[in-house]
Amino acid sequence: MQRIVKVKTDYKNSRVKQPYFVLNLASKWKLPLAITLLAFALMWKWAEWSQFYAASQYEQTDATWDPNQVTLDVALPENKEATSLIQATTLAEATKSQEWKTFTIKAGDNLAYYFQEAGLDSKAVQEVLSLGKEVNQLKRIYPGQTLRLLSREDGKLQVLQFDIDPLSTLIIERQTNDKLASHIEDKPIEKRVAFGGGQIFDSFFVAGKHAKLDDALIMELANVFAYDIDFANDIQPHDYFKVLFEEYFVNGVKVGNGPIVAAEFINNGKQYRAIRYTDTQGETSYYSPTGESLKKAFIRTPVQYTRISSHFNLHRRHPVLHKIRAHKGVDYAAPTGTPVKAAGAGKVVFVGKKGGYGNAIILQHGSKYTTLYGHLSRFGKIKNGSAVRQGQIIGYVGSTGLASGPHLHFEFRVNGVHHDPLKVALPQAEGLIGAAKKEFLTYSQSLLHLMDKHGKVLVATNE
Ligand SMILES: [Zn+2]
Repeated sequence: MQRIVKVKTDYKNSRVKQPYFVLNLASKWKLPLAITLLAFALMWKWAEWSQFYAASQYEQTDATWDPNQVTLDVALPENKEATSLIQATTLAEATKSQEWKTFTIKAGDNLAYYFQEAGLDSKAVQEVLSLGKEVNQLKRIYPGQTLRLLSREDGKLQVLQFDIDPLSTLIIERQTNDKLASHIEDKPIEKRVAFGGGQIFDSFFVAGKHAKLDDALIMELANVFAYDIDFANDIQPHDYFKVLFEEYFVNGVKVGNGPIVAAEFINNGKQYRAIRYTDTQGETSYYSPTGESLKKAFIRTPVQYTRISSHFNLHRRHPVLHKIRAHKGVDYAAPTGTPVKAAGAGKVVFVGKKGGYGNAIILQHGSKYTTLYGHLSRFGKIKNGSAVRQGQIIGYVGSTGLASGPHLHFEFRVNGVHHDPLKVALPQAEGLIGAAKKEFLTYSQSLLHLMDKHGKVLVATNE
């Protein structure tokens, strides 16, 4: 550095003309030269841009396009561009930033403390908190949360980043108008597919825990196969399961589990497989590898009952009338107020008082099936003609009508004929068809392949 300075001094002191001229020109013509260069650069950029614009116009209008003509016809906005360039440079100079300060919140410390630590002036806290609702997060900071501050040399805040939770960050930034603005940024969640599996020795729950599945995933797995396997009564030793499920990561750190993507359950030697699929209507469900729904069109028991107080019996002596009268349904004893669910998706065709049934509901499911729910204490949010989903709460257990105690009287009719709800063969819910089925089969193949591959690894490590 010193040597350069010395050389410069030499030029000035000596009367060597040429180098001095160069220096002289540089200082005297610096500004006009810079402006000229800038103007040329802008003209060049503008020409490029206008060609691109004209080209896109050309595609739309199909008109003949001459790039030279377009370029010459439009006035250069060089003054405006130059001005904003100068403004940006000035601002950058003024707001020369200091280094980021990162704090992990400790018990008992407040925002003002960290602001002071970051070299921010005393007004900064108020300036931030006056930004409104979004920054209220900063009024309740908890130990372990992370706060990052970038201050300016003049003691003003340039940027604040506050990790609200693993998924979102509050960001406050100083704008070009010198005012602060806040927004919440959601971090991108990375999804990964994880594998879990194991053999059942004592209980399904214990085996699930061994496979490092959390409680929610174990419950979900039982739900996926709930229509085929009775997890309370049917589980056998040496039953086997495999699960592919989603794991969510943010910045490489696991933040939670997603849904089960595919699963297999071997129950008493019989294989059940499920693949999660979302159809074109956005409905997500589990299907067999061939695209059949794993759901039945009906839930067999539409209420959580304490006991079955009366079975389907065509020659029963009626408990209230004391006469032989067919009992064309099942009575599920349950406390008054227990929710009653729609056994299947359908339409309300009757809701109201119906003789001995008391408060009753009749649902129509397609053209073939109807279900009846009697002795209800009250109705859910339904009315005649309204559509109901499978499992939707339609009413509550009671003892209205001819009833000796609170229970649900449930009837199941196929083509108008009563069937025993506990024995009737329940139809499957609709499976996939057409293009959706085609798409599903390809997807299903790749997932099952992945599950088989993992399964082999697991069996190998078990041995
Ligand atoms: Zn009954």
